Amino acid sequence: MAAQGSGILVVGAGQAGISLVTALRELGDPTPVVLVGDEPEPPYERPPLSKSYLRGEHDRASLVFRDRRWFAEHGVELVTGDAVVDLDRGASGGRATTASGRVITFERLALTTGATNRLLPVDGAALDGVHAVRTLADADRLAPELLRARRVVVVGGGFIGLEIAAGARALGSEVTVVEATDRLLARAVTPTLSEFVREAHERRGTQILLSASAVRVHGDGSRASGVELADGTTLSADVVVVGIGVLPRTELAERLGLLVEPQGIVVDAQARTSDGVTVAAGDCTVGPNPFTRGVPGPTRLESVPHATDQARAAAATLAGHPTAYDQVPWFWSDQGDLRLQMAGLPAGADRVVVRGDVAAERFSVLSYREGVLLAVESVDSSADYVAVKRALEKGMTIDADAATDAAVPLKRLITGAHAAPSS
Ligand SMILES: Cc1cc2nc3c(=O)[nH]c(=O)nc-3n(C[C@H](O)[C@H](O)[C@H](O)COP(=O)(O)OP(=O)(O)OC[C@H]3O[C@@H](n4cnc5c(N)ncnc54)[C@H](O)[C@@H]3O)c2cc1C
Repeated sequence: MAAQGSGILVVGAGQAGISLVTALRELGDPTPVVLVGDEPEPPYERPPLSKSYLRGEHDRASLVFRDRRWFAEHGVELVTGDAVVDLDRGASGGRATTASGRVITFERLALTTGATNRLLPVDGAALDGVHAVRTLADADRLAPELLRARRVVVVGGGFIGLEIAAGARALGSEVTVVEATDRLLARAVTPTLSEFVREAHERRGTQILLSASAVRVHGDGSRASGVELADGTTLSADVVVVGIGVLPRTELAERLGLLVEPQGIVVDAQARTSDGVTVAAGDCTVGPNPFTRGVPGPTRLESVPHATDQARAAAATLAGHPTAYDQVPWFWSDQGDLRLQMAGLPAGADRVVVRGDVAAERFSVLSYREGVLLAVESVDSSADYVAVKRALEKGMTIDADAATDAAVPLKRLITGAHAAPSS
């Protein structure tokens, strides 16, 4: 039988977990909180792990969101280095058991368990010198090897793979990116931006192989020495970095009998799971998003803004003031000296408009479906990004033909509300 608890238990001390706890206090909810994380560190930010931290430009302490004193001052017990391995809940509360055998009772529950890296399913993937980056510990293992590496192969042309590739190249390595699909960043951006990113990395000396699959990692003793591709080519490598996406951590939600799909724990706009009382937020969830206009249906977003905003909605629900999470999705990616900024979701676009100077690496791509503005992707063009994000937030639009004239600031072209596309 589930225990009756008194406080709030938040499982997962990452971006969403710390955002949820902070928002609870900002909302004036004084309920004692236990925040449990299985990593040894207090919650810290992940974006620098594939960027400046790898180049030694961030010390560890600067990544941490709050020092331990903050938790004590805000009535939050922070448990680190211990995983919740079992959960049981009834109508008035429940009980969690951790790997160390600790039992925590709770009245209200939040799951902010994030995601784990997808493993490369080939022989040799466990050799020394094969890396993936999700945690600080992962980055600490990779950073010194990247400094020494002469040849780096990155498997996966997504954001994290490309960020690490750019860093390795800037450190002087020969770098090859191996991408199984026919374009980079295929899940997240327009083909127009994919093509630009490929050319930009190639201009900086990185080799990009599209429609190429890694089938084996070769070793020299216990250490990786190269990556064999499906066409029989072998690329030699001192360091192999795998960035082929993540899997949501849904095992606790499944134990509770909550609705879970392959993409994540199913939540509604108020971050409630299928039992109506447990909330979930961040990379572990899949839910409605009013900005998936091109391809409607539940979406899983993996980004800091999403984890933060959805965690705020989850906190409001826990505090008894449910509020819909309806923020415009936005994202950034720093790939060496390239800065990409994106707002909205371009999937399903039937028209793209390019403004600015692609050759000068200063331009934006606006996506539309049936004349409705969906998204912007900007390269070194923050004003465009800000204008489109604002238009999307206000349910307004920007005329596609007028947008092509880069001499006219987009903020001057924002006009009245538009209807949603038909599908
Ligand atoms: C290298 C890297 C670079 C990134 N760069 C960007 C970027 O430039 N811009 C951007 O917007 N986003 C970026 N992201 C994505 C962003 O960091 C994530 O979307 C965000 O961290 C998700 O927050 P979360 O709280 O859902 O998950 P996480 O931050 O992963 O936190 C979940 C935590 O829960 C813990 N946990 C899971 N299960 C349990 C359990 N049973 N018991 C205890 N603890 C548990 C996990 O170990 C983890 O510490 C990047 C991510 C990575 C890995």
